[in-house]
Amino acid sequence: MSQITALETFDLRFPTSRFLDGSDAMNPDPDYSAAYTVLGTDDDGPDGHGFVFTIGRGNDVQVAAIEALRPFIVGREVEPMLADLGDTWRRLVHDSQLRWLGPEKGVMHMAVGAVVNALWDLRARREGKPLWRLLSELSPDEIVGLVDFRYLTDALDPAEALELLRAAEPGRAQRTADLLENGYPGYTTTPGWLGYDDVKLARLTREAIADGFTQIKLKVGGDLDDDVRRLGIAREICGPDVRIAIDANQRWDVDEAVRWVKELAPFDPWWVEEPTSPDDVLGHAAIAERIAPIRVATGEHIANRVVFKQLLQARGTGFVQIDATRVAGVNENIAILLLAAKFGVPVCPHAGGVGLCEAVQHLAMFDYVAVSGTTTDRVIEYVDHLHEHFADPVRIERGRYLAPELSGASTEILAPSVAAHRFPDGAVWT
Ligand SMILES: [Mg+2]
Repeated sequence: MSQITALETFDLRFPTSRFLDGSDAMNPDPDYSAAYTVLGTDDDGPDGHGFVFTIGRGNDVQVAAIEALRPFIVGREVEPMLADLGDTWRRLVHDSQLRWLGPEKGVMHMAVGAVVNALWDLRARREGKPLWRLLSELSPDEIVGLVDFRYLTDALDPAEALELLRAAEPGRAQRTADLLENGYPGYTTTPGWLGYDDVKLARLTREAIADGFTQIKLKVGGDLDDDVRRLGIAREICGPDVRIAIDANQRWDVDEAVRWVKELAPFDPWWVEEPTSPDDVLGHAAIAERIAPIRVATGEHIANRVVFKQLLQARGTGFVQIDATRVAGVNENIAILLLAAKFGVPVCPHAGGVGLCEAVQHLAMFDYVAVSGTTTDRVIEYVDHLHEHFADPVRIERGRYLAPELSGASTEILAPSVAAHRFPDGAVWT
């Protein structure tokens, strides 16, 4: 029997703050970072790769949290663990001592996500399939077995989840073929960083449209006059048909959010992202009601499936923005996809950062094939930087994500990039 023999961690940081890439109203100077982990086995098979995305300082804390999970993984037999990742997830998340650090939120929960995602990468590589395909070929019973329904059953129980998945089963083959031929729709945030001047905003908006994107996103919430001017520039270039989403990155209180969005309403924003604190379910619901028909979008900082459940129950969001590394990995994101399907709310994943596009595309494609069965009003965020560091980078054509074909979860970072970006002694930092 093969065993997991190694769990390695790396504090990788990319100096994105030097060019204000990624700058928004709350995060003016991020250095995109990955607390990266690699699982090795003793059988000459592939390694498994996972990571948590952070924006610089604190990435060492995230790495330490992943290290705390080593005793749960190293020395375990590979095949039984990969065959029952629902059980593995529960053992990691519900450890009687580590759970005190959450429960089920923050650094420790995200560390579990990195390890769980690395295990999924390992399993997909061993089965020779891209992760989206592996997930899409599981039976409804197997998928339900991956989800921890604790705290969810007042909104969604296993029987209902099974029903949803069975209803989507007949169309799986046709949607897989569609995905392989046409890819999955994306939108771009590249033009909209708050630190970019008007000339750069205009140029990048034109380029996005020429590249085939039908939706862009602008950061807002720094200064109202600036936002009015920038949205005006973007809307004039986009015309009425290209969607413009806006993202405040948690900048406002409830009343302020409503006032600000009303000022920007003439520019027809498609959604307003993270208007306020990600923990404020009732605040989101109040904003959603008061700015309708403009819809709220949120999720990249939602701590776990329980808060997503509440947001959906309270009608606090019109779009569910799952993030591949915020919650405890693939299993918990499957729970969130099922909740979104139950409430009929489109899933539009958060991505960008470093490696988030690579990781989350698999979940959106699985959602299309096996859960929601549709791409209507669904788009994966795209930002065109840092993909060159990945072994299986995303491929975008005419504004659409092409389905990954290599086996695994697209989470492997190239060895030279790992060496150069190690903090603080990699070449880019010395
Ligand atoms: Mg955002």
